[in-house]
Amino acid sequence: MLSLFRLHEIDDVLLAQAEAFKARVPILYAILIINTVTLAYTHHGIAPDAITIFAPGAIIAVMFVRLLHWNKLQKIQLSVAQARTTIRSTTVIAGVLAVLLLCWSLAMLHYGGPPPGAGQMSTKGHVVLYVGLTVICCICLLMHVRAAALLVTATIVPAFCTYLMMGGGKIELVVAINLLLVIGAMTYVLMIFARDFEHAIKAKARQRRLSERNTVLANTDAVTGLPNRRRLFAEMESCAEKNQPFGIIVLDLDGFKQINDLHGHPVGDKVLVEAGKRLAALVPADACCARMGGDEFAVFLPGRRNTADLVTLSCELIATLRPPIVLPDAVANIGASAGISINNPSINDGRCSDHYKQADYALFHAKKHSRGRAEVFSPFHERSIRMEGRIEQALRQSNLEDEISVAFQPIVRASDGRIVSYEALARWSNADLGSVPPSTFIAVAERSDIIQRLTRIVLSKALAAARDWPSDISLKINLSMRDLSSPEQVLRLVSIIRQSDVEPKRVAFEITESALSDDLGAVRSALNVFRAMGLTVAIDDFGSGYSNLRYIHRLQPDIIKIDRSFVERLGEEASASSIVKTIVELCHNIGARALAEGAETPEQVALLQGLGCDEIQGYFFGRPVTQDEVTSFLHARQHGELVPALA
Ligand code: C2E
Ligand code: MG
Ligand code: MG
Repeated sequence: MLSLFRLHEIDDVLLAQAEAFKARVPILYAILIINTVTLAYTHHGIAPDAITIFAPGAIIAVMFVRLLHWNKLQKIQLSVAQARTTIRSTTVIAGVLAVLLLCWSLAMLHYGGPPPGAGQMSTKGHVVLYVGLTVICCICLLMHVRAAALLVTATIVPAFCTYLMMGGGKIELVVAINLLLVIGAMTYVLMIFARDFEHAIKAKARQRRLSERNTVLANTDAVTGLPNRRRLFAEMESCAEKNQPFGIIVLDLDGFKQINDLHGHPVGDKVLVEAGKRLAALVPADACCARMGGDEFAVFLPGRRNTADLVTLSCELIATLRPPIVLPDAVANIGASAGISINNPSINDGRCSDHYKQADYALFHAKKHSRGRAEVFSPFHERSIRMEGRIEQALRQSNLEDEISVAFQPIVRASDGRIVSYEALARWSNADLGSVPPSTFIAVAERSDIIQRLTRIVLSKALAAARDWPSDISLKINLSMRDLSSPEQVLRLVSIIRQSDVEPKRVAFEITESALSDDLGAVRSALNVFRAMGLTVAIDDFGSGYSNLRYIHRLQPDIIKIDRSFVERLGEEASASSIVKTIVELCHNIGARALAEGAETPEQVALLQGLGCDEIQGYFFGRPVTQDEVTSFLHARQHGELVPALA
């Protein structure tokens, strides 16, 4: 029974009760004041002034003060604590007012005037009407505060009806029973309403919590628990909408893909979690450190930011990722590079996505040219983007069959300097752009499917040239990741080789080491297809990226091309020759040939020979030359004419 009067323990229900009641209070007090004034008026002169003027005056004054208090509350959103106090005080005041009104109406009943004439309403009848109306009004308007409604009903109705019945009259008895029945029914309705209201509020609160949880989930990265891309962009958009400056740092982990490949995704996820923790610990409180996907993180910094500060922060973020991540099942050595972009609405008002792209471009540049460092997006990058855009347009619109030519660079046997193969290298000369270096146009072509078309053109042209070469000279062709990841492209390349007059065993495909980390599965299936038709497979630029012996073990290449950077340092740094020696031994252990790239001096050649390299390529033996030059050289060699350095 007491529980009916207790405050609700669920905050949402308490708040909803108080808010709903708040809106009804003025009507309630207005009705009560009108009822009280009317009853006082009809009894004026019949009952003493103390009862018809002073008592109702005092009661109305209390109601008026409460009305003013509630008027103040109308304008504010109640807190849970306020709601609790309000409901508690409302119940107490309702109880006090109920006692006062009961006493007052009983007094009115006592002083009731003489029986009226026929057809006239008695003052007693008015008192009963007053009590009935007041209680019904309280039940209807206090419905949201069940305790108060019940208290008013329980205080007034039983006592008043008992008093009425004690009068002994038949009519009074019937009226009292009538009043009891009606108020009893109303109380029942009140109980049902209170229960339904509570259910509705609880359901609404559940719904709200669910939607809040969904919002949190939709804005959180599931692996690291950090904000995700959507949240970072939302923060960036809101800052941009207010025309406020901001800075953004995009970070990409170096060597993460290898960890994923080597130890599996569960270990990869743990590495991401630890990396995220280290980054988040360093960013300022007002910044948002998010995982953008894969191994990319970003830090959004609202407000005016100084370039030097962002560079310092980026360097700290990169440095914090350097110490090995020690996990129970692995030790992960990762690094990171960073790209920075600063938005200043007074200078540039580009879209948020543009700023993100700028930071991403600076990152891409840093990864390519200064791995492990931070680069700030600058006018230089802007020019590069514009230039790359022009190159991409030109690549798409040009007749590449006519504009692409192939240069051939000789590769010699280390033991006697005899040419054993040529590497086909693409050259592009465009009417508007002139001669574009391969390092530039290949990189642009590799960002889209253009590279697939380009590879097919180079392969067809190189095969056409190699058809006339002696059968002991093979051909090396460079492939990109997109050539290997597309089964259609793999089949097209196979068909080009089948249709040529060059035996597949004379053709080798070179795959850069960095491509291996992208999708090892796709690379393996493509290489299996090539091997099945008798082609040779070479790993290009070995040692330039994150070398992973597991790749070598899985792919079983026929040739490993040692990156030029090691050959360059031969004779200068002792470590370079140890590395070359180790790679050569590795090659021989797995039954592959070791080919050193970029030999420019006789000293380098002598050292490479001494270290056991099988084949050598480099300017010392010849720069890339045209097909005609290759043909005339091979012709001269066949006829015993002497050629310096080469045989
Ligand atoms: P790569 O496959 O490693 O080719 C060797 C590059 O090193 C060539 O540069 C070659 O000219 C250069 N090189 C060879 N010997 C020396 C030397 O002694 N010293 C120096 N400094 N450089 C030397 P190139 O022709 O500029 O090609 C650059 C890269 O562009 C190639 O590196 C290859 O990754 C890519 N590439 C060229 N043609 C193609 C192609 O048809 N398809 C694909 N996917 N990539 C290509
Ligand atoms: Mg190559
Ligand atoms: Mg190479």
